[in-house]
Amino acid sequence: MKRRSFLWCIHPLQGLAESLLLGLFILAATAQLEGYVDPFVFQVAAFFLCGCCGMWPVLRIRLPQGDWRRQLAWEMGVGLGLSLMMVAALTAAGDALGWNVIWRLNNWDRAACDALLICTGAGYVLTRGGVRLWQRWNVLRRQRLLWSLTHAQLTVVVFFDFLAALIFFFITPYSRTAYDIWTQTSNPVAAFVTGLLVTLFPALMLVTLITGISLAVMLPPLAVLSYFVARRTTRRLETLAGAAAALRAGDYSARAPVEGEDEVAHLQADFNAMAEKLSQALADLKRERDTVAEVLQSRRDLVANVSHELRTPVATLRASIETALDQWETLPPSETRQKLAVMEGEIQRLSGLMDDLFVLSRADVGQLPLTLAAVAVGPLVTQAVNALAPLAWQTGRVTVTAELPENLPTVLADSRRLQQVVVNLLRNAVRYTPPGGLVVVLAAVENGLMRIEVRDTGEGISPEDLPHIWERFYRGENAGTENAGLGLALVKELVEAMGGQVAVESIPGRGSCFSLTLPLNE
Ligand code: ADP
Repeated sequence: MKRRSFLWCIHPLQGLAESLLLGLFILAATAQLEGYVDPFVFQVAAFFLCGCCGMWPVLRIRLPQGDWRRQLAWEMGVGLGLSLMMVAALTAAGDALGWNVIWRLNNWDRAACDALLICTGAGYVLTRGGVRLWQRWNVLRRQRLLWSLTHAQLTVVVFFDFLAALIFFFITPYSRTAYDIWTQTSNPVAAFVTGLLVTLFPALMLVTLITGISLAVMLPPLAVLSYFVARRTTRRLETLAGAAAALRAGDYSARAPVEGEDEVAHLQADFNAMAEKLSQALADLKRERDTVAEVLQSRRDLVANVSHELRTPVATLRASIETALDQWETLPPSETRQKLAVMEGEIQRLSGLMDDLFVLSRADVGQLPLTLAAVAVGPLVTQAVNALAPLAWQTGRVTVTAELPENLPTVLADSRRLQQVVVNLLRNAVRYTPPGGLVVVLAAVENGLMRIEVRDTGEGISPEDLPHIWERFYRGENAGTENAGLGLALVKELVEAMGGQVAVESIPGRGSCFSLTLPLNE
């Protein structure tokens, strides 16, 4: 269940009615003092009555909302109503019930009493204005550290005001007179009520008055003082808050300058460290994301390329098989043989492609099966050159030779895979070298590594193609459609798996030099 609040929650009419009842209660209570106390007590009681009747609606009646003019009109209306209620309803009811001893016994005239009663409404309006100011102040000090610090200083001022007012009250001759009046009466209840009225109430009034005046006087200089004292700290905090807001908005380069060595400086340094870590983590995350995106893209490309590469030989095979089956009876044996030879060629191409893909996929997961052993580079290169040279000469008038020094040391490699590497490089060199050209294989020990080079005097590679030629399925502009673009990717994977490196240099129109290094077998 929602707890009903006491403050600022009732309708003005209810507030006025409650105030009237409270006034009547005070009138009734003071009427009982007649005959026991000094008439001066009734004068103080009149102030007390007006104070209570004014304060009660200040605390109880709900605060109007909306436009300030409407609010002012509302409060003035309630204040007027309160004054009227005090002058008319309260005194009339008090007269009728015979409780208006306050006004009868003190030596004021009725006009002075009415003025005091009317002032209740004015007091109400002023105090409600004070409540508004207090609320505004609270909002302000919650929003800005500067005002919060001013508030703390003002609290100290209020406390000392309170003390000063009390001390002032108790050392004035008034307090002694009041004490005399209080102790005059023999009735204990009357003595108690008199005591409250003539000492506590004026003391409270005095405290309120002094506090109000000193607050009004102290607030501006204190605000200025706080401003200067707290400005440095608040400015640093504001810079920090600005940096935090920028960071939240996505500016990960936002930092707060570290000033001084205090807690704020620690906070600034911590913020900067946190922002640094955050931006680093984000950069890492972005890199990871890019890598994953790249991997996914390369997988997609791979699948697309593989299916594309498989389609051509499979289609050729299917067409050859279909014609062979259709014309089985009529086809002369020589043509049948020719068709079977085409099929064998396509099957060889397919199985070569599948072998390459298999090796590359194993290399991807780091499971390329290699049998590393001492391999003599000289014989291996000579064998490859001997195998390719006659065909290169016959088909393209390209000379393939090897220039190898004596006593080449052995390398640590898988001899079958190394053979495959050299053959791939030689085939490419022959393929892209025009008739009359030359392909040379060189080998030498350089910086403790075996360096094997395949040089050709071919057409070379364009600068646009050069950075991509090691990529899978990449074919340069000079490549024919029968090539899958896997040869160099395979060379690179195999050499790197054997602990070596590959490189290429090429001048378009003049030739290319593919080189690889391998560790020696020590
Ligand atoms: P491909 O099967 O197309 O030969 P590779 O991976 O072996 O695939 O080569 C990739 C590309 O590199 C080729 O398409 C070609 O453009 C270029 N290339 C490779 N070797 C040579 C070379 N010796 N001379 C000129 N271009 C070459």
